[in-house]
Amino acid sequence: MCSWTRRTFVTGALSTAALSLAADGAPTGGHARRSATGRRPGAPSAAGYFPAHGDLGYDVTHYDIRLAYRPRGRALDAVARITAAPAEPLERVAFDLASRLDVTGVEVNGAPARFRHRHGKLHLAPAAPLLPGEPFTAAVRYRGRPGPVRSPFGAIGWDYTQGSGVVVASQPLGAPSWFPCNDRPDDKAAYRITATVPEGLHVVANGVLQGHSPGPGATRTWTYEHAHPMASYLAQVQIGRFAFSHQRGGPVPLRNACPPHLTERFAHDFGRQPQMMTLFSRLFGPYPFEVYGSVVVDAELDEPVENQTYALFGTNHLDGRRTSEHLVAHELAHHWFGNSVSLTDWRHIWLNEGFATYGEWLWSEHSGGPGAHELAASNWSDLADDAQRMRIGAPGPAHLFDDRVYSRGACTLQALRTTLGDATFFALLRNWAARYRHGSAGTEEFIALAEAHSHRPLRSLLHSWLYARRLPPLPPERV
Ligand SMILES: [Zn+2]
Repeated sequence: MCSWTRRTFVTGALSTAALSLAADGAPTGGHARRSATGRRPGAPSAAGYFPAHGDLGYDVTHYDIRLAYRPRGRALDAVARITAAPAEPLERVAFDLASRLDVTGVEVNGAPARFRHRHGKLHLAPAAPLLPGEPFTAAVRYRGRPGPVRSPFGAIGWDYTQGSGVVVASQPLGAPSWFPCNDRPDDKAAYRITATVPEGLHVVANGVLQGHSPGPGATRTWTYEHAHPMASYLAQVQIGRFAFSHQRGGPVPLRNACPPHLTERFAHDFGRQPQMMTLFSRLFGPYPFEVYGSVVVDAELDEPVENQTYALFGTNHLDGRRTSEHLVAHELAHHWFGNSVSLTDWRHIWLNEGFATYGEWLWSEHSGGPGAHELAASNWSDLADDAQRMRIGAPGPAHLFDDRVYSRGACTLQALRTTLGDATFFALLRNWAARYRHGSAGTEEFIALAEAHSHRPLRSLLHSWLYARRLPPLPPERV
């Protein structure tokens, strides 16, 4: 995503999904993926900025989400099959799912299970405890009229475009608006998403379109598969009328979707995605997924979102003059930094947004615009004028998408580049992307890897940028 403000478009009544915010803490680095000691099975994680979301007791490996959606009445009928591995013996399992959706039945390993659904949590009680080493599958049937969930970042998740369309933009907490999930940025899984919609509507979801075929009545069923790990907040289904297109010239297959009346603008404004892909693959290492592209939905969105393999944009991001091209670069850069290398917790958000903003600057530098140092100096001046200094390494849960996380985060990388020199700096970025590819990491892991690339300590430099309120000086550009 590109900024902390998000437009809420057409919305229905908000659900009562429970969100609780953790108090901002002292700077912490990456933490252990799991801490099983002393935790009640099925209880929410005690760590992290949003302790009401997610569960440390299991690790999802696959979501199979089947949706039947009727625009008339905005009616959703769905079943989600979730395959997961217990991290400890579990007598109960909790998924995040918006309370406005009605759960009509649950099975665990094919046997009916008791369940309770309230305050945005679906608690299951399997007939027998689930044990580590024995993966389980929970099938959840649910229905209702989905809508966005309330969050500190506005109403997010499943929402509606003009006409009959659906738009899903979940970052960071909106995934439970449309499917039961372990809503943590570090529990990543493969996905199969199937959607049955009225004939004439089209569906976009993550990964590769397997095909579409006639469904019951005048409907069509679309199936997408995404085999690479994905965090729940990056999952999506977009429903509307789309013109699909392909682009050649880059190292990865590119396919796109946009409203039919915008194809000409799209072809121009997103025309340089293959060159961006070539540049970033050279600077960051191989693109981590099987396919890429952008989808434009028929609604205005304040900010694009880096939904995995199909970055999401609104109609206001096209004007036929590439005014928003920096955002196209930003969402692509997230696929290395945020989507493949994911956060261990949201507090490390600068690793997503600082890096993606730096991707914008690298594209500018490469494509004949201002260089990264010039852009850093300009952003540094704005930050220096701001009396409200922010510790971007621990911004607090309400400030994840504050502009200063973006600009100071990217300035941090420019300071590091100047200190290390280009060859070492880009080797560090490639190593970061390779070492934690399809995994999760936090700020401490990044500082440790940066120091491993340097002859001198970097901790005090990085701590001054990440954890001190005072803005450090931007090192002069090497000539
Ligand atoms: Zn972003």
